[in-house]
Amino acid sequence: MSKGVLLIVSGPSGCGKGTVLQHVLKNEEYSYSVSATTRAPREGEIDGKHYHFMTKAQFEHCIANDKILEYTVYCDNMYGTPREFVEEQLLRGVNVVLEIETEGAFNVKRLMPDALSVFISPPDMETLETRLRGRGTEDNETVEKRLAKAREEMLLADRYDVVIVNKENGAEEAASEILKAVEAKRNSL
Ligand code: 5GP
Repeated sequence: MSKGVLLIVSGPSGCGKGTVLQHVLKNEEYSYSVSATTRAPREGEIDGKHYHFMTKAQFEHCIANDKILEYTVYCDNMYGTPREFVEEQLLRGVNVVLEIETEGAFNVKRLMPDALSVFISPPDMETLETRLRGRGTEDNETVEKRLAKAREEMLLADRYDVVIVNKENGAEEAASEILKAVEAKRNSL
């Protein structure tokens, strides 16, 4: 059986990557890697489903025990990919989705060059700002920080294997582009 593809997906906060990935994950040959984070849960977020929420001490313990494949600090919180789940799923032939920011994406690509990296871009910065503010889950200071971060991230898009623009109501189309790129990658391995 062929190994699964490690699919790295980045895109600024508010670009709609969550919705795109929901469509990708409807396919049973895909699984989602739940990250660890020290960020506080947002309303509605479930421990073990959206993230493994931990204290800084717990997170550092995982790093010390080599349980984290990669990690980064993003807007004052730690985020990392648990190693075991990813390795196990790939061996079973399942494609694994990592929804991570740019630094983590480049680190994973260096560690696992067969991974496919995809950047999801908003149609433009105004759309991104409207979506971020409209979400209403963050205070103004956090939104400003995330917008500044988004501008930085957009400059790195061309270092990804594939860039996909998530148009208004275009999540399904974006997802099908991703599925095609993963299939092509899988056939090339
Ligand atoms: P949020 O707080 O909006 O859930 O996530 C903030 C950023 O952290 C997003 O860009 C998200 O993709 C990224 N992120 C989530 N989990 C991980 C991870 O395990 N590793 C890295 N490097 N980034 C992550």
